[in-house]
Amino acid sequence: MRICIQPVGEVDKNVLEFLKEKLKFFGECEVLKPMEIPKTAYNPLRGQYNSTVILKLLPTTCDVVLGVTDVDIYADNLNFVFGEAELLGRRAVISLRRLRQSFYGLPEDKEILKLRALKEAIHEIGHVLGLGHCRGRCVMRFSNSIVEVDYKDWWFCESCLKKLRNSGFI
Ligand SMILES: [Zn+2]
Ligand SMILES: [Zn+2]
Repeated sequence: MRICIQPVGEVDKNVLEFLKEKLKFFGECEVLKPMEIPKTAYNPLRGQYNSTVILKLLPTTCDVVLGVTDVDIYADNLNFVFGEAELLGRRAVISLRRLRQSFYGLPEDKEILKLRALKEAIHEIGHVLGLGHCRGRCVMRFSNSIVEVDYKDWWFCESCLKKLRNSGFI
């Protein structure tokens, strides 16, 4: 499987390189040239970007395209999202904004940011590969707050791994 990371706007290169190395588990992984943050995704009333609009503007040239942005994103009916994915499609997007310690008034911590980004990246890729939400500390656990992101592991539980194996994705 070939996974492409698509930076959307300016994104920390350390995080992109970290994700690239880790996502090589699935096969090949490369970082594409950054694309501009689509203006049409911006909602001036909310001061946020619509994740679904960004998602649909991502390229489809790889088996999985993971958009990574540093702007705050939301989806309809939700105050914010850490990410969004096309279930059994090709594309997913995550935002680093609310994964940063600085968002919560704490000193920035690059290691924490990288780990959280990895969890959200693998979670959204899991959706692209057909997985739904799971329980326990599985990476497919739904997280609605940063505490829940920190609670879960960065990898799939045995049951989710089995589904991926049965689908031939790993
Ligand atoms: Zn999810
Ligand atoms: Zn699971």
